[in-house]
Amino acid sequence: MKAIATDYRGIWGIMGEKQQQSEEIVQILKSKGLRVTPQRFAVYANLRSRSDHPTAEQIWTDLNRDYPVSSQATIYAALQSLREAGLVRSVLLEEGVSRYDANVEKHHHFRCQCCGMIEDIPWNALNEINLQALRPGLVAQSYEVRVEGICDRCSVNQRPENGG
Ligand SMILES: [Zn+2]
Ligand SMILES: [Zn+2]
Repeated sequence: MKAIATDYRGIWGIMGEKQQQSEEIVQILKSKGLRVTPQRFAVYANLRSRSDHPTAEQIWTDLNRDYPVSSQATIYAALQSLREAGLVRSVLLEEGVSRYDANVEKHHHFRCQCCGMIEDIPWNALNEINLQALRPGLVAQSYEVRVEGICDRCSVNQRPENGG
């Protein structure tokens, strides 16, 4: 019995911290004029807690562990309203695959061709691109860079060990 009591205290401790984050998320949603639904809350909280740019399906799989009631359609609908509110953006790094990002600040992306890992590159890490180089008649609104390569984890794994 004592063990159970201790566990509960532990859970409350974690919930205290989560409570604070929850309040923050609710405030952000409200500040954007969004009605706070459990789905919007869960999707936004999930996206904010990760930086791996998941697909809608990955978010759904993740949330289904906690909210087995969410259908994929409700995840898409929640993503859509979050996007319209400017809280979430979609990133197209592979053809036909929409990934989502709660980081809506200007930034670039690195994508590992080996494992598919995606990482944010701070905007200032790359030199400004000269948009004046565009042909006359084209008016640039925005741009971002996608760097393709091999991540550090994959380069370690790919180190030749058997001489080719
Ligand atoms: Zn990799
Ligand atoms: Zn990103």
